[in-house]
Amino acid sequence: MAKNLIEVRNLKKYFPIMGGVFSRKVGDVKAVDDISFNIEEGEIFGLVGESGCGKSTTGRTIIELLDPTAGSVKFDDKVIYDIENNVRMPRNELQALRRDMQIIFQDPYASLNPRMNVGTIVSEGLVKHKIANKKEAIEKAKELLELCGLSADNVVKYPHEFSGGQRQRIGIARALALQPKFIVCDEPIAALDVSIQAQVLTLMQELKEKFKLTYLFISHDLSVIKYFCDRIAVMYLGSFVELTTTKRLFEKPLHPYTQSLLSATPKSDPTITKERIILKGDVPSPANPPKGCKFHTRCPQVMEMCKTVVPEFKEVEPGHTVSCHLMDLDAR
Ligand code: SF4
Repeated sequence: MAKNLIEVRNLKKYFPIMGGVFSRKVGDVKAVDDISFNIEEGEIFGLVGESGCGKSTTGRTIIELLDPTAGSVKFDDKVIYDIENNVRMPRNELQALRRDMQIIFQDPYASLNPRMNVGTIVSEGLVKHKIANKKEAIEKAKELLELCGLSADNVVKYPHEFSGGQRQRIGIARALALQPKFIVCDEPIAALDVSIQAQVLTLMQELKEKFKLTYLFISHDLSVIKYFCDRIAVMYLGSFVELTTTKRLFEKPLHPYTQSLLSATPKSDPTITKERIILKGDVPSPANPPKGCKFHTRCPQVMEMCKTVVPEFKEVEPGHTVSCHLMDLDAR
């Protein structure tokens, strides 16, 4: 069994809601609400759910781009933070560790500084971390661009001179510059044309093999995640509702929310006709999530107890964890 590279325990990220004349805190948006999971070395771990479910916040809080509210994260056996025990990795150590943890953003245009040329964008981290001087760093940037399918001459060009797919390749080259172990891929292909998406995914897969990378791959699109990830966690209103291998999730989704998401994905075999499960209502606000099971206001199989009792997130078969009261009834 591979070693865990990332260990997340009881992670919470709340954003305060300020209100009233004195602008006091009147509540919290519970963007990430008590999630625990591991990511093994070399694994592609998928995080899926509707927009606003907390996927991106999870990725950013793990690598401390956002300050956590509670919980702990270990990276490569080192504690980055453990809020309950008041442990934070010292700043200088964290700075060094940041080299190992990178992020690829959804919008390749917004994430690239329009005033910097591509050479500077890709090589910036190398200079900042004193790994190379400016000249060496630009040579490295050229290498990385070529590795990502772009010509080395592009170092002198600016982001606006590239297409969306090319800009995402630049974003990937920048993420790779520091030779990280772990990359948070935050909807990396969502802003790209469908024709380009497969090319970027193939590149990411090749780079993962070449550099033995580990990915946290965030997407709202299960059909993308299906071909790319080893395991998948399905998220709803800040919590995990189901976590298992990709194969098992697509063979036998157990949570009603997963079943509804899967029913909306295109089938590779057109002879298979499955009824689409349309969820009623909108996603409730994470500032005021429903009591009991957070999904009960939209669940087609809701029972009376779901409205008051929070279902436990528990293992129902080896490596398959679900939070739904139906599992206790053995209705699966
Ligand atoms: Fe639906 Fe109840 Fe299961 Fe929640 S606990 S998913 S409301 S059946």
